[in-house]
Amino acid sequence: MFERPSIDPAATGAIDVRGHDRLSWQRVLQDAVRDIDELAGLLEIEAASLRAVARESGFALLVPRGFVARMKKRDIDDPLLLQVLPRAEEEVRAAGYSDDPLSEQAIADDGVIRKYRGRTLLIASGACPVHCRYCFRREFPYAQQLASRHGWENAVGKLRRLGDIGEVILSGGDPLSVSNRNLATLFDALQTIESVRSIRIHTRFPITIPERVDAGLLALLRRSSAKLVVVVHCNHANELDRSVEAALGNLAEPADLLLNQSVLLRGINDDAATLASLSHRLFDCGVLPYYLNMLDPVTGTAHFEVGDGRARSLLADLRAELPGYLVPKLVREVPGASSKMPL
Ligand code: SF4
Repeated sequence: MFERPSIDPAATGAIDVRGHDRLSWQRVLQDAVRDIDELAGLLEIEAASLRAVARESGFALLVPRGFVARMKKRDIDDPLLLQVLPRAEEEVRAAGYSDDPLSEQAIADDGVIRKYRGRTLLIASGACPVHCRYCFRREFPYAQQLASRHGWENAVGKLRRLGDIGEVILSGGDPLSVSNRNLATLFDALQTIESVRSIRIHTRFPITIPERVDAGLLALLRRSSAKLVVVVHCNHANELDRSVEAALGNLAEPADLLLNQSVLLRGINDDAATLASLSHRLFDCGVLPYYLNMLDPVTGTAHFEVGDGRARSLLADLRAELPGYLVPKLVREVPGASSKMPL
């Protein structure tokens, strides 16, 4: 088990005693819930009942209080709680599940992961605003594979040498864990690469800590001469409260495209009404559903798996129910394939 890095404001250059507002998202993150008994108290669930299904884990509980506030009290099966609670089932070693289900670790180099032609992933940070139990990179060796390790230079130099990269996808961890100042340095560097036409940000911050969409972030995104695509990650309509809607509304202005990707998760969003309601709510927030990902088989997550047959039937129900632009693409990532594969 690799330790997930936490955000160190000093290391990222984010500490600035002059600007309280600019630190607010970092304070929200520092104040996130990390203790199962405290979580039980906030949700008015008997600690013993939660402890009966929960386990301490090397991939520790981390959930912002604002996200906890969107959970239903006294409901041990709340779909948001199930996404973040470390459960005893994670100890099950299921066939076909591994620590590196997408075979990324062998091809990662200086934080650059090139899976597809013309676009490449850059691991901008190993830190996250929340620890999602089904995360396919929960065992990723972030300590060795951060594009920021050498002040972005090695990673950006590699992209420049590749010569044919039209789109850079900032991933992680969550790239918005990086301070605005540091992100601005990265954006400036990426825009010196002639071939780069667009920068894509994959992030769960606007959903889990909407305070992250602050004035400094918006200002740096507005300055981007490259096209800007923001792909947020939301699995259930209950994640989208007013504060998230406002943050997404603010992001829509600098972003050329605002999309969502979800993971199909057993017991959380594996029914047509739940998925349809997610699509409608995303649309209310100005976001289009993009991908509905099949679970990547990472160790300890088999209890989230939804079978292919069930997934196809859900997609058929969604097609019958929704206009085409609200139906996400049902896809699976296959190691070595030239793109995500439609199911
Ligand atoms: S799914 Fe995204 S936000 Fe959640 S733990 Fe994984 S990288 Fe972090």
